Amino acid sequence: MLKQTEIDKLRADFPILTREVYGKQLVYLDNAATTQKPRCVIDKITEMYTTVNANVHRGVHFLSQEATEVHEASRKVVQQFIHAASPNEIVFTRGATESINLVASSFCNAFCSEGDEILISAMEHHSNIVPWQMQAERLGLKLRVAPINERGELILEQLEQLITPRTKLIAVTHISNVLGTVNPIKAIIDIAHRHDVLVLIDAAQSVQHTKVDVQALDCDFLAFSSHKIYGPTGVGVLYGKEKWLNALPPYQGGGEMIASVSFEKTTYNTLPYKFEAGTPDYVGAAALAEALRYLTAIGIDKIASYEQELLSYATEKLSSIAGLRIIGTAAEKRSVLSFLVEGVHPYDMGTLLDRMGIAVRTGHHCAEPLMRVLGIDGTVRASFAFYNTREEVDLLAEGIVRIVKMFRA
Ligand code: PMP
Repeated sequence: MLKQTEIDKLRADFPILTREVYGKQLVYLDNAATTQKPRCVIDKITEMYTTVNANVHRGVHFLSQEATEVHEASRKVVQQFIHAASPNEIVFTRGATESINLVASSFCNAFCSEGDEILISAMEHHSNIVPWQMQAERLGLKLRVAPINERGELILEQLEQLITPRTKLIAVTHISNVLGTVNPIKAIIDIAHRHDVLVLIDAAQSVQHTKVDVQALDCDFLAFSSHKIYGPTGVGVLYGKEKWLNALPPYQGGGEMIASVSFEKTTYNTLPYKFEAGTPDYVGAAALAEALRYLTAIGIDKIASYEQELLSYATEKLSSIAGLRIIGTAAEKRSVLSFLVEGVHPYDMGTLLDRMGIAVRTGHHCAEPLMRVLGIDGTVRASFAFYNTREEVDLLAEGIVRIVKMFRA
């Protein structure tokens, strides 16, 4: 596990963490929304624009070739990070949202017809609901929803019962952005495959907190965003098994994704370019690769155990506050702590914590259907990264206690 001295050293890699807001030292606990960036990632962006900037895959000139080499090397870094079998299985997108939209659109176009079913879970982010709903509406598909128990855990037996001969794909989050629940995705994938159903894993909240090995999982598709894993905004990843990506039609048309074009007919490029229409964000991809190298050097397992310990500490600390209720008490949880305090609206809690320099998120966290299942309007959510400390958790707890006192006075 990471020691406090190591955390202090790592914190120094993140320039923004020294910022003050309202004259208070920033305590950034909104990492599930986006993570802060280490200096090496910020420097990589500058380095790309000051040394190798040129459009990739197009030019015969030196810079273009060098930029292409960097871009393809970035793809290999992503491939290794999630242990994909081939770089052809790594598609750069704009983010997890675009990755899921790509699969929803291309998969449903190719493999679904009226009456077919897509199975999701009750704890999905809007990004893993709406793209499927849009296809369901267009093609006459049915969207089924696997329920959760009172702790916020998926009920596996019921998920399996919801699989019918018409089920084509299960789309499920690895870690819930609201509850912190770690879903048993290996078990879900095994169940799905026994029924010849494909699985898409929304890994937007997991790749930064736990080791993800797509071959060991045997998932068919997996999506994540660079900005939640210490990389830049505007880039994301879609992993897909080569056989499925080959079978899917392109998502968008344009440059890069073609082999040849005439006014009559276009033949498409090979993988992964078939899914990368237009100039890719090669600068973003290079900076994402830098973030992944940075994490790998620290050690994702070390990060996981430190964050786990921090979450336990925070859970204990906040649980001791009278009137505070933790939302999401799954046995397996990571890095997300949602709560409500009796008599204090989440928005007021978030606003007043902000005045103390503490950044948390309030509201439905892009999971309105889950809020309805839980019978609440929203939560306050503190979400942790490895650069957060016990002292910051103490400040959060003290802040909540002060606010509760204000409201009770
Ligand atoms: N899925 C989950 C579980 C998320 O938490 C998020 C981001 N909050 C997304 C998908 C979408 O990610 P992005 O907005 O980066 O595309």
